[in-house]
Amino acid sequence: MTRIYFEVGNTYSRKDVYRIVNVPKERQGGNWDTGYNRYNNDLYIFANINTTGRTGHDYKNRFIGNNLEWYAKNGSKLTHNSIQQMINPEGKNFIFVRENSNDPNFIYVGNGQVFKAYDETPVRILWKFFDSNENHSEILAEEIPEDIPLFEGGTKQIIVNAYERNPVARKKCLDHYGFNCSVCKFNFEERYGDIGKNFIHVHHLQEISKIGKEYVINPIKDLRPVCPNCHAMLHKRQPAYSIEQLKEIIYEKNAKLIY
Ligand SMILES: [Zn+2]
Ligand SMILES: [Zn+2]
Repeated sequence: MTRIYFEVGNTYSRKDVYRIVNVPKERQGGNWDTGYNRYNNDLYIFANINTTGRTGHDYKNRFIGNNLEWYAKNGSKLTHNSIQQMINPEGKNFIFVRENSNDPNFIYVGNGQVFKAYDETPVRILWKFFDSNENHSEILAEEIPEDIPLFEGGTKQIIVNAYERNPVARKKCLDHYGFNCSVCKFNFEERYGDIGKNFIHVHHLQEISKIGKEYVINPIKDLRPVCPNCHAMLHKRQPAYSIEQLKEIIYEKNAKLIY
């Protein structure tokens, strides 16, 4: 059964969620406000995530590549029923994140599947997102190989990687620049209609090698929307081509054709 209540990348307050899934007044609040709650067969996770890229961050939850590293409630154990239901869900695991705990709005990340669950207290879970009924604009080719150690070292890579993919930074970038490719202006909705709505990759402009430990990413200064074709071409070389360089390459190619 397919139930799509939420759109990936859109913002929802808890009140919106109550309204959308028809939670009666007497069942609102309570567990909904404490991180996660099960309602009917589905799990609803509301997580504060660290997106500052700073050391000494506020929250332990963070994106590592496309995956969300997330901590269950204090005292949770892998054997607990609530955790086992996450691992073997009857319904969906709807996951919402925000970076500021004062913000009533969360960004919907998607229906999560447990990629790894760690036998720790509280339980640490790595969530992955690839529900084919959802519109995920995941990056196909990226500067970060998939096999970098996730939990030791690679801090700089993780920060950059996290920023290209994390929904909060992504939203800030796209709210500012829109969904046209910064190189070729391609727009997925224009070409493909509804299924292309809100689809675009986000490219990080800074070279990893130039990023220092204290580097804090500015989603508007450092990120740009690019289509997957242009994104792949940007990364054809290491260090990557700049957006201007790739525009120049396309321009020169076409100028020759015309000549
Ligand atoms: Zn493009
Ligand atoms: Zn990129």
